[in-house]
Amino acid sequence: MTNSVEKIKIFCDNCGKLVAVVTFYPEGENKSNSLPTLKVSDISGWICNSIIPHSNGKKSLLHIAKLLKERKFRELSYDYFGFVCYKCDKAYCVNCWKDITPIWDGNFYDYTLATCPAGHESMIDD
Ligand SMILES: [Zn+2]
Ligand SMILES: [Zn+2]
Repeated sequence: MTNSVEKIKIFCDNCGKLVAVVTFYPEGENKSNSLPTLKVSDISGWICNSIIPHSNGKKSLLHIAKLLKERKFRELSYDYFGFVCYKCDKAYCVNCWKDITPIWDGNFYDYTLATCPAGHESMIDD
């Protein structure tokens, strides 16, 4: 079990570009939150930027970090990783997703659909 800050880089399965950096902060290392957190920073800045809170449990945060390193994307929670096509079990950068379509519920933004390079429609932002 690691107790230091760890950065996991996710590269696009289609073109090789950097898609996102996921940082694991152990307890006391994240200035804005004393509890362990996982921060997901999407390079393009729009598919997915989220903090996965400690409420998921430190063990599960480390488990998520492990799954990311092993690129076992299908086992990740849906909401936090919009760059993943769960049908392919692969990660794609913003340039490789096609037909990016924001879906509105009246005046309110709801979610964004896109098509992966293999032709699967997927929710890339929620
Ligand atoms: Zn796909
Ligand atoms: Zn790409």
